[in-house]
Amino acid sequence: MHLYIHVPFCRRKCHYCAFSSQAHTSELEKSYLEALDIEAGIRAKQIRGKRISSIYLGGGTPTLLTLSSLARIIDIAASSFSMDSGIEFTIEANPETIPDKNFPADLKKLGINRLSLGVQSLDDGILTRLGRSHTPSQALRAADIVLEAGIDNLSIDLIWGLPGQTLKRWLQDLKTVISHGPQHVSCYGLTLEPGTFFARLVEEKEIELPDENLQARMYLCGSEYLESKGILQYEVSNFAKKDYLCSHNIGYWEGNEFLGLGPSAVSSFNGLRWMNPSNIEDYAGLANKGFKGLCLENINGSKLINEKIMLALRTSRGLRLGEYSQLTGQNFFLTFNSLISVLQKNNLVRLDDGHLCLTRKGMLVSNSIIERFIS
Ligand code: SF4
Repeated sequence: MHLYIHVPFCRRKCHYCAFSSQAHTSELEKSYLEALDIEAGIRAKQIRGKRISSIYLGGGTPTLLTLSSLARIIDIAASSFSMDSGIEFTIEANPETIPDKNFPADLKKLGINRLSLGVQSLDDGILTRLGRSHTPSQALRAADIVLEAGIDNLSIDLIWGLPGQTLKRWLQDLKTVISHGPQHVSCYGLTLEPGTFFARLVEEKEIELPDENLQARMYLCGSEYLESKGILQYEVSNFAKKDYLCSHNIGYWEGNEFLGLGPSAVSSFNGLRWMNPSNIEDYAGLANKGFKGLCLENINGSKLINEKIMLALRTSRGLRLGEYSQLTGQNFFLTFNSLISVLQKNNLVRLDDGHLCLTRKGMLVSNSIIERFIS
């Protein structure tokens, strides 16, 4: 099973972000760590016997915490759960939180062996518009520092489809990022999350997004460029060099069980799914009540099958048709025969060694294709 730990602190809110995070104070951090300790103890009893095969410290901005606070989080996890040896251990970081080599070198000593760096863009004006707290040169310097410090599995997050972004600029950013040697790149299309500052600006026509045609070219040309450099696509938004695919995320896409600790973290275990409260005070309050009353959702029947289809079709490997038959007793190909032939004719899907996969063109419109397969 996989372990996700949410660290809910950010220096300030980026304008497009809907993730759960709050401004850091020492009182909030104290409540958070105490509640995390309680939750780990409760969940350890619940999942007894299960071993952890990957850890992901996400946020928020985990690297906003001091090394000793991060060490405490890791200690909570290590003393509560049994871990497989040599597991992938990722931390998310923002460039401005990595001032020098000492910090990533110390992270490595704590057992962290993969770092996911939120670069997003290398255009100064765009970074300001996004409300990011770093400059392009800080981002590139942070990437270099991480690799120099010996964390040799670096992932860089970038966003395409941003206001003011051109195709040339996007491809230039990719080229520059690749020249700094990351093993993994995540490229997300900008999504306008309801309630964010960015969504309001677009609604009020204060800023304009690139048109659909340009966004499509950014996705297709960007993916082709990364693949030409040996960084291969393995999911709609994820690309990696051989042997550097993120096993934590693969576990999630394969529908493995996962345990999420911390505010807003989601868990999926034993056919049940639950999500912790997002706010730190509410989370700490619930921890003190032993998480009694937390809403549990049953994941079975059509919900389980729909999730399998949705997650598998987002990966380059695609949906294993034999697994669908095992789960439903039905033949996927016969059930969706006419839909599959229309999509094949339009070069949106292909059948490959018992799997149904989206083509690159299909990945561009993955959501609308997946919708048609799920009931
Ligand atoms: S740093 Fe990440 S989590 Fe924090 S506000 Fe920005 S995008 Fe959201």
